[in-house]
Amino acid sequence: MDSVTRRNFLETTVAITALAAGPGRARADDGSDVGATGYRTRSGTEVSNMLESGKPKVYESTVRPGFTWPEGKRMAVSMSFDDARPSQVDVAFPLLEDFGVKATFYVCPDNLEKRVDDWRAVASAGHELGNHTVSHPCSGNFEFSRGNALESYTLDDMEKEMVECNRRVETACGVVPATFAYPCGNTFVGHGKKVRSYVPLVAKHFLAGRGFPSEWHNAPAVCDLAQLNGVSFDGLDFNTILGLIDKAGADGAWLVLAGHDAGDEDARQVTRCDTLRAVCEYALEPDHGIWLDTVAAVAKHLRDWQAENKRQRKKTETR
Ligand SMILES: [Zn+2]
Repeated sequence: MDSVTRRNFLETTVAITALAAGPGRARADDGSDVGATGYRTRSGTEVSNMLESGKPKVYESTVRPGFTWPEGKRMAVSMSFDDARPSQVDVAFPLLEDFGVKATFYVCPDNLEKRVDDWRAVASAGHELGNHTVSHPCSGNFEFSRGNALESYTLDDMEKEMVECNRRVETACGVVPATFAYPCGNTFVGHGKKVRSYVPLVAKHFLAGRGFPSEWHNAPAVCDLAQLNGVSFDGLDFNTILGLIDKAGADGAWLVLAGHDAGDEDARQVTRCDTLRAVCEYALEPDHGIWLDTVAAVAKHLRDWQAENKRQRKKTETR
């Protein structure tokens, strides 16, 4: 390796090391923050090209600075609850209101209409009402869904579920759901060779779709809003949630929590009130740098950033 090649190789290595350094530490040539999540992560081919040419190209294809959260936050957390269960209006809603925190409730209209005045109050307080279908179809592997199994559904059936749920929520509460939660986290219709994904329908009708139960957070610059990861909130103590928050924070990411009932009992599908309170307290502490908001609010920020970034990249490519 001659001295020029060696120097270029070292410069390249420095650039790659900077990429791996994480948010707040890595800096681009222009001094902007690289962050851990933007388009600064290079593919194997790009890195090989860099090494071949001996010239660091790390930042050349990056049109915009790395992804950033509003107001200098380091990550986002959204709390969501499914099915419009009574404990959500009786327990979760007043608890969240005590902290001034807004959450997302993925509702099925049959449940919502039984407590319509309460759900109107939830919506007027600024919480998000999302779509969770009318009949909550899941795989027939779930006993409760055996007579309404996704394996016997078509994409048309699924689209009707979404449209009708939106219509009934709007009639009952005057708001049109902007985001969707997949019942049971299932994203398909049909059986065997006739299985189809219904994710594209969610992309067509909604700003975002939340999955369940997922292991991981969402990477803001690259995630598909139509199939967001939703990590189970139920039954967990605060330390466990804190572990998830820390991992998402280190990645500058968006942690979406998904629960069902809210209460003090230790039972299946119950998000613990002490955990819920602790998450609110922790996330509201300004030093923790967390944007705690509804799925729709965070998804809008990501949608706008992803669209603008795509536009800028296209512009650069056609130059
Ligand atoms: Zn559900």
